[in-house]
Amino acid sequence: VSFESFGLDARLIQAINKLGFEHPTLIQSQSIKLSLEERKDIIARASTGSGKTAAYCIPIVQSILTTVEAANGVQTLILVPTKELSNQVTEFLGQLTVFCGRSVRVLNLNDTVSDQVQTQLVKEGREVFVSTPAKLVSVLEKNKSLELSNLRFLVIDEVDLMVSYGYKDDLEKLKEFLGMKANTQVFLMSATLNEEVTELKEKFCNKPAILKL
Ligand code: AMP
Repeated sequence: VSFESFGLDARLIQAINKLGFEHPTLIQSQSIKLSLEERKDIIARASTGSGKTAAYCIPIVQSILTTVEAANGVQTLILVPTKELSNQVTEFLGQLTVFCGRSVRVLNLNDTVSDQVQTQLVKEGREVFVSTPAKLVSVLEKNKSLELSNLRFLVIDEVDLMVSYGYKDDLEKLKEFLGMKANTQVFLMSATLNEEVTELKEKFCNKPAILKL
């Protein structure tokens, strides 16, 4: 299989080539296909090194690039357990969207900026927010008017770590903020598929495909 076979946008293919990725990993081919062709929610048992970040970032970028109508507000929320991961995912998305101009703008909520600057950036709107759950909840509490009703993707990465870092309450709060529309596609990524994943699945997913790799 090649990345081209998924019918990805030329700007995305160009970036994937620049990253030096020759073939999709197993989790990437499955998740790209299920996400783009079937619009499925996806639960993946995938650890670091499996290419899991690209497995959710590629379909997200493709989907944003190919949506004709401009949607208001945030379209994608990517939640990770640590600030470092928030930086890493943001950096990876930057590489993946390097040829996309301003079509896919990413905001890392864990960036160290003043509250004032952050509020301004949040107000301007971005296609993708990357954040830890605590930071996202605090930003949502400070920016009550933030439009979330067009949310197309919600990613919860490293679910097992999220739970051990004590982010469960924040995820609960987030669920209340979001209300979760049927048209939000959800990715849950976890190294192990344990009870906590099952709990989040019931809360956030709608008939998900389960990838055990
Ligand atoms: P991850 O599992 O997301 O932490 O990614 C692990 C590493 O694999 C990262 O350094 C990625 O840049 C790299 N990677 C992801 N997908 C591919 C691919 N299809 N081909 C080669 N390297 C990849």
